[in-house]
Amino acid sequence: MEISTRTLVQSRPLNSPEAALAKGMIEASRLPDGYEAQLQTDMTAFPKRWLERFKENDVSVAVLKDDQTLADTPILHSLEESQISEIVSQGKPLVEKAIEEVFGPLRGQPDEDYQKYQATGILQEKIHDLSNQTGLGFTAEVGRDALDLRYLGEKMGFDPEYDPESFERWKTAFTDMNEKLGQVQDGTFKPQDGVYVVPYLMYRGKTARALSLPSYQSVTGLQFQNNLGANYPENRLVILHESVVPNPSPRAGNHRVALHELGHMVDWICKELPETKDTHEQKVNELYQIGMERKSLITDRARDSAGEMMAEAVEAYLTTEEPGNFYKPENYRENLQKSYPELYNYVDYLINLA
Ligand SMILES: [Zn+2]
Repeated sequence: MEISTRTLVQSRPLNSPEAALAKGMIEASRLPDGYEAQLQTDMTAFPKRWLERFKENDVSVAVLKDDQTLADTPILHSLEESQISEIVSQGKPLVEKAIEEVFGPLRGQPDEDYQKYQATGILQEKIHDLSNQTGLGFTAEVGRDALDLRYLGEKMGFDPEYDPESFERWKTAFTDMNEKLGQVQDGTFKPQDGVYVVPYLMYRGKTARALSLPSYQSVTGLQFQNNLGANYPENRLVILHESVVPNPSPRAGNHRVALHELGHMVDWICKELPETKDTHEQKVNELYQIGMERKSLITDRARDSAGEMMAEAVEAYLTTEEPGNFYKPENYRENLQKSYPELYNYVDYLINLA
């Protein structure tokens, strides 16, 4: 694929420090040739200082194909050895405390077994809360039957045949964490009270926190059939569908979706920057209100909300007019400056903040 810089008010070559900063933010796998380079190039429309700010804020730009989820990108890191040890050493006492709190009062009661049976859901919930609060990410499962650990391990993504080392390490962690929840004998776990803990699991060759994997998997490329991209500012995460990366893109033409989504991130970061945090939100709301009254906002998307206005304005500020552009052809710097000088001036100030 040919890399285009035509739409951008400025860009830097791939061997520049700016492009290196951009590359460090991109989380993608199996992209067609040239896609990453185009995305890097687009991102260098931002001044270096903003690329540094994105980095300081741990901003990631994930690119998804239709058949991928976030868990398929490098954004899902394999757990380090020390993190696995932490799950066991810090998680085990938490699990035992939860068992004590829920089952302790039931011991010795005439219908103890029945009461415990009734309380397994509560115990499971309590374990999940503790796991969530501490970020350790283990889960509790309900089950009364004896479990063959090889079978359970396979269900959790391990392959005892081809990667016995990973499986054995997991089995050791499992046995340790479940000490008070049942007994392991000859590779079989016999649950005592109908609950067992999964310390972590394996997903496509990476060890992962059992509690957080589903949230990674819930963001799929297919969701971007309608939306071209998305941003999760709290998670410092921008997601693009791969189809919006080339320039022109079959779906967004010369409009640079990456710059729009990073525009949301600029807006978000400005709420926290020392120079702007006290005034930014009010300023943006005012600009939005005035822009709506005067009909100065140049795209439909910008009229949706103050946040969308900012994202569109950042994209416009960093791009030039493209003859024949079929998607948001009106969203470019000169038009922004002409249609709404106050918004242009404010974005100009933000983007050039030293
Ligand atoms: Zn947006």
